[in-house]
Amino acid sequence: MGRAVFIPRKELHGNLVKVLDASSFIHGYNPSLEKGEHYTTSGVVEEVKSKRDVIYLALEYGKLFIREPRRETVERVKKASLETGDNLSQCDMEILALAIDLGGILYTDDYGLQNVARKLSVPFRPVIARGIREEFTWRLVCRGCKRIYPIDYQEEVCEICGSPLERKRVKKRGN
Ligand SMILES: [Zn+2]
Repeated sequence: MGRAVFIPRKELHGNLVKVLDASSFIHGYNPSLEKGEHYTTSGVVEEVKSKRDVIYLALEYGKLFIREPRRETVERVKKASLETGDNLSQCDMEILALAIDLGGILYTDDYGLQNVARKLSVPFRPVIARGIREEFTWRLVCRGCKRIYPIDYQEEVCEICGSPLERKRVKKRGN
């Protein structure tokens, strides 16, 4: 007699927590169009004046939430940034601290932030190269008949026409 057990959706699909810094908004990240729960700080919202409409819409849709980090965590980040020698703004330190507090992935294109995140073992992702990485992939393409081979194909020439294969960036299909 199996009893139905209610599993919350979040647990089923994994709770994807994404923490967004100023650069991710500036470089075009739109939480309303992306999967997962997004968080940012009020400091970031203050900083990103050019993307206010994107931010307010996402807040309204419940795709973005504003949270502030714990003071102790900000202190931890400050210490780590002094050790790595990265000069982080208060806003930078707060957003990294929030990623730690929430156990989320930090989205940032800021090199200094990425560096301190690495030091603190906080997972991070760049935003600016995302579109390119998702839409394109590397393949081997025959110079003669244009047949496409996987990038790890062992031969140097095409099995159909014998022409050399070259590395090319091609559009991903069905994705
Ligand atoms: Zn060929």
